[in-house]
Amino acid sequence: LYNQVQDLKGNIRVYCRVRPFLPGQSSSTSTVGHIDDGNIMIITPSKYGKGHKSFSFNKVFGPFATQEEVFSDTQPLIRSVLDGYNVCIFAYGQTGAGKTYTMSGPEELTEESFGVNYRALNDLFHISKQRKDTFCYEIAVQMIEIYNEQVRDLLTNDGPQKRLGIHNGSQKGLAVPNANLVPVTSTTEVIELMNIGQKNRAVSATAMNDRSSRSHSCLTIHVQGRELASGAIFRGCMHLVDLAGSERVNKSEAKGDRLKEAQHINKSLSALGDVISALAQKSSHIPYRNSKLTQLLQDSLGGQAKTLMFVHISPEVDAISETLSTLKFAERVASV
Ligand code: ADP
Ligand code: MG
Repeated sequence: LYNQVQDLKGNIRVYCRVRPFLPGQSSSTSTVGHIDDGNIMIITPSKYGKGHKSFSFNKVFGPFATQEEVFSDTQPLIRSVLDGYNVCIFAYGQTGAGKTYTMSGPEELTEESFGVNYRALNDLFHISKQRKDTFCYEIAVQMIEIYNEQVRDLLTNDGPQKRLGIHNGSQKGLAVPNANLVPVTSTTEVIELMNIGQKNRAVSATAMNDRSSRSHSCLTIHVQGRELASGAIFRGCMHLVDLAGSERVNKSEAKGDRLKEAQHINKSLSALGDVISALAQKSSHIPYRNSKLTQLLQDSLGGQAKTLMFVHISPEVDAISETLSTLKFAERVASV
Protein backbone atom coordinates (compact mmCIF):
# COMPACT_ATOMS: atom_id res chain seq x y z
CA LEU A 1 0.00 0.00 0.00
CA TYR A 2 2.78 2.43 0.85
CA ASN A 3 4.29 1.90 -2.55
CA GLN A 4 0.99 2.38 -4.32
CA VAL A 5 0.52 5.67 -2.52
CA GLN A 6 4.08 6.64 -3.36
CA ASP A 7 3.68 5.70 -7.01
CA LEU A 8 0.68 7.96 -7.31
CA LYS A 9 2.75 10.81 -5.95
CA GLY A 10 5.62 10.16 -8.32
CA ASN A 11 9.18 9.14 -7.59
CA ILE A 12 10.72 12.59 -7.18
CA ARG A 13 9.45 14.99 -4.62
CA VAL A 14 10.68 18.32 -3.37
CA TYR A 15 9.81 19.77 0.01
CA CYS A 16 10.77 23.25 1.13
CA ARG A 17 11.54 24.03 4.77
CA VAL A 18 11.89 27.52 6.21
CA ARG A 19 14.16 27.94 9.22
CA PRO A 20 12.76 30.09 12.05
CA PHE A 21 14.66 33.16 13.20
CA LEU A 22 17.26 32.09 15.74
CA PRO A 23 17.29 33.31 19.34
CA GLY A 24 18.65 36.85 19.39
CA GLN A 25 17.77 37.56 15.77
CA SER A 26 15.23 40.26 15.09
CA SER A 27 12.25 38.70 13.40
CA SER A 28 10.70 41.98 12.33
CA THR A 29 11.61 41.55 8.67
CA SER A 30 11.23 38.20 7.07
CA THR A 31 11.48 37.53 3.36
CA VAL A 32 8.96 34.74 3.72
CA GLY A 33 5.37 35.78 3.13
CA HIS A 34 2.37 33.55 2.81
CA ILE A 35 2.82 29.78 2.98
CA ASP A 36 0.15 27.22 2.22
CA ASP A 37 0.40 23.48 1.67
CA GLY A 38 2.67 23.54 -1.39
CA ASN A 39 3.24 27.23 -2.12
CA ILE A 40 5.54 29.82 -0.69
CA MET A 41 5.65 33.52 -1.42
CA ILE A 42 8.94 35.37 -1.08
CA ILE A 43 8.97 39.11 -0.50
CA THR A 44 12.00 40.78 -1.99
CA PRO A 45 13.10 43.77 0.07
CA SER A 46 13.18 47.21 -1.57
CA LYS A 47 16.91 47.36 -2.10
CA TYR A 48 16.63 44.24 -4.25
CA GLY A 49 13.62 45.62 -6.11
CA LYS A 50 10.54 45.28 -3.98
CA GLY A 51 8.17 42.58 -5.17
CA HIS A 52 6.69 39.16 -4.63
CA LYS A 53 7.61 35.85 -6.09
CA SER A 54 5.81 32.54 -5.61
CA PHE A 55 7.21 29.03 -5.80
CA SER A 56 5.42 25.68 -5.73
CA PHE A 57 6.64 22.41 -4.28
CA ASN A 58 5.13 19.14 -3.17
CA LYS A 59 5.03 20.56 0.33
CA VAL A 60 6.23 23.61 2.23
CA PHE A 61 7.07 23.48 5.93
CA GLY A 62 6.95 26.84 7.67
CA PRO A 63 9.22 27.93 10.51
CA PHE A 64 7.01 26.33 13.15
CA ALA A 65 6.93 22.85 11.65
CA THR A 66 8.23 20.30 14.14
CA GLN A 67 10.75 17.56 13.44
CA GLU A 68 7.93 15.08 13.92
CA GLU A 69 5.72 16.76 11.31
CA VAL A 70 8.56 16.86 8.82
CA PHE A 71 9.32 13.21 9.44
CA SER A 72 5.74 12.02 9.16
CA ASP A 73 5.62 13.17 5.54
CA THR A 74 8.84 11.25 4.89
CA GLN A 75 7.82 8.06 6.65
CA PRO A 76 6.10 6.22 3.75
CA LEU A 77 9.24 6.62 1.68
CA ILE A 78 11.35 5.19 4.44
CA ARG A 79 9.06 2.22 4.85
CA SER A 80 9.41 1.33 1.18
CA VAL A 81 13.08 0.48 1.87
CA LEU A 82 11.80 -2.56 3.75
CA ASP A 83 9.99 -3.62 0.58
CA GLY A 84 13.26 -3.55 -1.35
CA TYR A 85 13.21 -0.05 -2.83
CA ASN A 86 16.14 2.35 -2.95
CA VAL A 87 15.59 5.81 -1.54
CA CYS A 88 17.61 9.04 -1.53
CA ILE A 89 16.83 11.91 0.77
CA PHE A 90 18.80 15.13 0.30
CA ALA A 91 19.14 18.27 2.38
CA TYR A 92 19.98 21.23 0.15
CA GLY A 93 20.48 24.89 1.02
CA GLN A 94 22.96 27.56 2.01
CA THR A 95 25.04 27.08 5.16
CA GLY A 96 22.98 27.90 8.23
CA ALA A 97 19.60 27.28 6.59
CA GLY A 98 18.89 24.10 8.57
CA LYS A 99 20.14 21.10 6.56
CA THR A 100 21.82 19.36 9.48
CA TYR A 101 18.89 20.23 11.72
CA THR A 102 16.50 18.40 9.39
CA MET A 103 18.73 15.39 8.84
CA SER A 104 20.27 14.94 12.31
CA GLY A 105 18.82 17.52 14.69
CA PRO A 106 20.44 20.35 16.67
CA GLU A 107 23.70 19.93 18.56
CA GLU A 108 21.90 19.45 21.88
CA LEU A 109 19.67 16.53 20.96
CA THR A 110 16.42 15.83 22.76
CA GLU A 111 13.80 13.27 21.84
CA GLU A 112 11.63 15.91 20.15
CA SER A 113 14.51 17.30 18.14
CA PHE A 114 15.83 14.08 16.62
CA GLY A 115 16.23 14.48 12.88
CA VAL A 116 15.18 12.34 9.94
CA ASN A 117 18.14 9.95 10.15
CA TYR A 118 17.53 8.84 13.70
CA ARG A 119 13.75 8.66 13.22
CA ALA A 120 14.17 6.70 9.99
CA LEU A 121 16.28 4.02 11.65
CA ASN A 122 13.97 3.88 14.62
CA ASP A 123 11.07 3.32 12.26
CA LEU A 124 12.92 0.64 10.30
CA PHE A 125 13.69 -1.28 13.50
CA HIS A 126 10.12 -0.94 14.65
CA ILE A 127 8.52 -2.18 11.43
CA SER A 128 11.01 -4.98 10.94
CA LYS A 129 9.98 -6.26 14.38
CA GLN A 130 6.31 -6.05 13.45
CA ARG A 131 7.00 -8.13 10.36
CA LYS A 132 9.14 -10.73 12.09
CA ASP A 133 6.72 -13.60 11.45
CA THR A 134 6.98 -13.08 7.69
CA PHE A 135 10.40 -11.49 7.10
CA CYS A 136 13.83 -11.54 8.64
CA TYR A 137 15.69 -8.25 8.21
CA GLU A 138 19.33 -7.28 8.63
CA ILE A 139 20.12 -3.57 8.86
CA ALA A 140 23.62 -2.10 8.50
CA VAL A 141 24.93 1.42 8.01
CA GLN A 142 27.79 3.21 6.29
CA MET A 143 28.71 6.84 6.66
CA ILE A 144 30.97 8.60 4.19
CA GLU A 145 31.93 12.11 3.22
CA ILE A 146 32.72 13.59 -0.17
CA TYR A 147 35.17 16.45 0.05
CA ASN A 148 36.85 17.91 -3.03
CA GLU A 149 35.59 14.97 -5.07
CA GLN A 150 37.23 12.45 -2.75
CA VAL A 151 35.29 9.81 -0.87
CA ARG A 152 36.24 9.10 2.76
CA ASP A 153 34.90 6.81 5.45
CA LEU A 154 33.45 8.57 8.49
CA LEU A 155 32.93 5.37 10.50
CA THR A 156 36.54 4.69 11.26
CA ASN A 157 38.77 5.04 14.27
CA ASP A 158 42.08 4.69 12.48
CA GLY A 159 43.32 8.18 11.88
CA PRO A 160 43.73 9.80 8.48
CA GLN A 161 41.15 8.26 6.26
CA LYS A 162 42.16 6.74 2.98
CA ARG A 163 40.37 7.68 -0.19
CA LEU A 164 37.77 5.18 -1.27
CA GLY A 165 36.60 4.12 -4.70
CA ILE A 166 33.03 3.90 -6.01
CA HIS A 167 31.80 0.68 -7.65
CA ASN A 168 28.39 0.69 -9.25
CA GLY A 169 26.38 -2.45 -9.76
CA SER A 170 28.35 -4.44 -7.20
CA GLN A 171 26.78 -7.67 -6.05
CA LYS A 172 25.73 -6.67 -2.59
CA GLY A 173 24.54 -3.28 -3.70
CA LEU A 174 27.41 -1.48 -1.97
CA ALA A 175 28.54 1.54 -3.95
CA VAL A 176 31.52 2.02 -1.61
CA PRO A 177 32.50 -1.56 -0.72
CA ASN A 178 35.57 -0.53 1.26
CA ALA A 179 33.81 1.77 3.69
CA ASN A 180 32.97 0.20 7.04
CA LEU A 181 29.57 -1.46 7.02
CA VAL A 182 28.29 -1.71 10.57
CA PRO A 183 25.33 -3.95 11.48
CA VAL A 184 22.88 -2.22 13.80
CA THR A 185 20.02 -3.58 15.85
CA SER A 186 19.06 -0.71 18.11
CA THR A 187 18.78 3.05 18.11
CA THR A 188 21.37 3.28 20.91
CA GLU A 189 23.96 1.73 18.60
CA VAL A 190 22.95 4.13 15.88
CA ILE A 191 23.43 7.17 18.11
CA GLU A 192 26.93 5.95 19.00
CA LEU A 193 27.82 5.52 15.34
CA MET A 194 26.49 8.91 14.44
CA ASN A 195 28.63 10.42 17.15
CA ILE A 196 31.72 8.76 15.67
CA GLY A 197 30.75 10.07 12.24
CA GLN A 198 30.14 13.58 13.56
CA LYS A 199 33.49 13.52 15.40
CA ASN A 200 35.35 12.49 12.27
CA ARG A 201 33.73 15.36 10.43
CA ALA A 202 34.51 17.72 13.28
CA VAL A 203 38.19 16.72 13.37
CA SER A 204 38.60 17.72 9.79
CA ALA A 205 36.54 20.84 10.45
CA THR A 206 39.04 22.40 12.86
CA ALA A 207 41.94 21.50 10.60
CA MET A 208 40.31 22.84 7.50
CA ASN A 209 38.04 25.57 8.81
CA ASP A 210 34.47 24.44 8.90
CA ARG A 211 34.85 21.67 6.43
CA SER A 212 31.45 20.25 7.33
CA SER A 213 29.72 22.97 5.35
CA ARG A 214 31.94 22.26 2.36
CA SER A 215 31.59 18.50 2.15
CA HIS A 216 28.65 16.23 1.46
CA SER A 217 27.99 13.64 4.13
CA CYS A 218 26.01 10.53 3.39
CA LEU A 219 24.54 8.05 5.82
CA THR A 220 23.52 4.91 3.97
CA ILE A 221 21.19 2.39 5.54
CA HIS A 222 21.37 -1.04 3.92
CA VAL A 223 18.48 -3.39 4.48
CA GLN A 224 18.50 -7.04 3.55
CA GLY A 225 15.23 -8.90 3.85
CA ARG A 226 14.48 -12.60 3.63
CA GLU A 227 10.96 -13.85 3.18
CA LEU A 228 10.68 -16.71 5.64
CA ALA A 229 8.20 -18.79 3.62
CA SER A 230 10.04 -18.69 0.29
CA GLY A 231 13.58 -17.91 1.43
CA ALA A 232 13.67 -15.14 -1.19
CA ILE A 233 16.24 -12.43 -0.45
CA PHE A 234 15.84 -8.78 -1.42
CA ARG A 235 17.74 -5.59 -0.69
CA GLY A 236 16.89 -1.95 -0.32
CA CYS A 237 18.95 0.99 0.74
CA MET A 238 18.43 4.54 1.81
CA HIS A 239 20.90 7.38 1.46
CA LEU A 240 20.47 10.35 3.76
CA VAL A 241 22.60 13.12 2.33
CA ASP A 242 23.51 16.35 4.10
CA LEU A 243 24.84 18.35 1.15
CA ALA A 244 27.59 20.96 1.20
CA GLY A 245 26.36 24.55 1.53
CA SER A 246 25.01 25.84 -1.78
CA GLU A 247 26.10 29.47 -1.27
CA ARG A 248 28.16 31.20 -3.89
CA VAL A 249 31.52 32.24 -2.51
CA ASN A 250 32.53 35.84 -2.54
CA LYS A 251 34.73 36.39 -5.60
CA SER A 252 37.34 38.41 -3.75
CA GLU A 253 37.60 35.76 -1.04
CA ALA A 254 37.77 32.74 -3.31
CA LYS A 255 41.41 31.95 -3.83
CA GLY A 256 43.54 28.82 -3.51
CA ASP A 257 41.95 26.03 -1.48
CA ARG A 258 38.75 27.95 -0.96
CA LEU A 259 38.33 28.43 -4.67
CA LYS A 260 38.99 24.76 -5.33
CA GLU A 261 36.43 23.71 -2.71
CA ALA A 262 33.88 26.10 -4.17
CA GLN A 263 34.40 24.75 -7.67
CA HIS A 264 33.99 21.16 -6.50
CA ILE A 265 30.80 21.98 -4.62
CA ASN A 266 29.39 23.96 -7.47
CA LYS A 267 30.13 21.19 -9.92
CA SER A 268 28.65 18.43 -7.79
CA LEU A 269 25.49 20.33 -6.86
CA SER A 270 24.79 21.23 -10.45
CA ALA A 271 25.52 17.63 -11.49
CA LEU A 272 22.95 16.51 -8.94
CA GLY A 273 20.43 19.05 -10.24
CA ASP A 274 21.08 17.88 -13.82
CA VAL A 275 20.55 14.22 -12.90
CA ILE A 276 17.33 14.82 -11.00
CA SER A 277 15.84 17.08 -13.63
CA ALA A 278 16.82 14.64 -16.40
CA LEU A 279 15.04 11.92 -14.42
CA ALA A 280 12.00 14.12 -13.87
CA GLN A 281 11.83 14.79 -17.61
CA LYS A 282 12.27 11.07 -18.31
CA SER A 283 15.23 11.92 -20.50
CA SER A 284 16.98 9.02 -22.22
CA HIS A 285 20.45 10.13 -21.06
CA ILE A 286 21.02 10.63 -17.34
CA PRO A 287 24.41 12.31 -16.72
CA TYR A 288 25.52 10.34 -13.65
CA ARG A 289 29.24 10.45 -14.49
CA ASN A 290 29.73 14.16 -13.89
CA SER A 291 30.42 14.03 -10.13
CA LYS A 292 31.34 11.63 -7.34
CA LEU A 293 28.04 12.36 -5.64
CA THR A 294 25.91 11.28 -8.60
CA GLN A 295 28.18 8.27 -9.23
CA LEU A 296 27.78 7.22 -5.63
CA LEU A 297 24.01 7.43 -5.84
CA GLN A 298 23.60 6.13 -9.38
CA ASP A 299 21.86 2.89 -8.34
CA SER A 300 19.53 4.81 -6.05
CA LEU A 301 18.51 7.63 -8.37
CA GLY A 302 16.07 6.78 -11.16
CA GLY A 303 14.40 3.52 -12.14
CA GLN A 304 12.23 2.31 -9.29
CA ALA A 305 14.13 4.42 -6.76
CA LYS A 306 12.47 7.24 -4.86
CA THR A 307 13.98 10.65 -4.31
CA LEU A 308 13.11 13.38 -1.87
CA MET A 309 14.85 16.70 -1.70
CA PHE A 310 14.42 19.04 1.25
CA VAL A 311 15.37 22.54 0.24
CA HIS A 312 16.13 24.84 3.13
CA ILE A 313 15.86 28.59 3.25
CA SER A 314 16.63 31.22 5.89
CA PRO A 315 14.10 34.01 6.48
CA GLU A 316 16.64 36.84 6.84
CA VAL A 317 16.73 39.78 4.45
CA ASP A 318 20.51 39.34 4.08
CA ALA A 319 19.95 35.86 2.73
CA ILE A 320 17.58 36.94 -0.03
CA SER A 321 19.79 36.29 -3.02
CA GLU A 322 20.76 32.81 -1.76
CA THR A 323 17.10 32.15 -0.92
CA LEU A 324 16.04 32.99 -4.46
CA SER A 325 18.77 30.93 -6.06
CA THR A 326 17.97 27.98 -3.76
CA LEU A 327 14.31 28.14 -4.71
CA LYS A 328 15.15 28.41 -8.40
CA PHE A 329 17.40 25.36 -8.17
CA ALA A 330 14.63 23.49 -6.39
CA GLU A 331 12.02 24.47 -8.93
CA ARG A 332 14.22 23.22 -11.74
CA VAL A 333 14.64 19.89 -9.95
CA ALA A 334 10.92 19.68 -9.26
CA SER A 335 9.76 20.64 -12.74
CA VAL A 336 7.95 17.45 -13.58
P1 ADP B 1 23.16 23.93 7.95
O1 ADP B 1 23.40 22.50 8.28
O2 ADP B 1 22.27 24.11 6.75
O3 ADP B 1 24.41 24.73 7.84
P2 ADP B 1 22.08 24.00 10.62
O4 ADP B 1 21.17 22.81 10.58
O5 ADP B 1 23.38 23.83 11.31
O6 ADP B 1 22.32 24.58 9.15
O7 ADP B 1 21.24 25.20 11.26
C1 ADP B 1 21.83 26.43 11.66
C2 ADP B 1 21.30 26.79 13.06
O8 ADP B 1 19.89 26.96 13.04
C3 ADP B 1 21.57 25.72 14.08
O9 ADP B 1 21.85 26.33 15.31
C4 ADP B 1 20.27 24.94 14.14
O10 ADP B 1 20.08 24.28 15.38
C5 ADP B 1 19.24 26.05 13.91
N1 ADP B 1 18.05 25.56 13.21
C6 ADP B 1 18.00 25.15 11.94
N2 ADP B 1 16.75 24.78 11.58
C7 ADP B 1 15.99 24.95 12.66
C8 ADP B 1 14.59 24.73 12.95
N3 ADP B 1 13.75 24.26 12.01
N4 ADP B 1 14.15 25.02 14.19
C9 ADP B 1 15.00 25.52 15.13
N5 ADP B 1 16.30 25.73 14.93
C10 ADP B 1 16.81 25.46 13.72
MG1 MG C 1 25.25 21.51 8.43
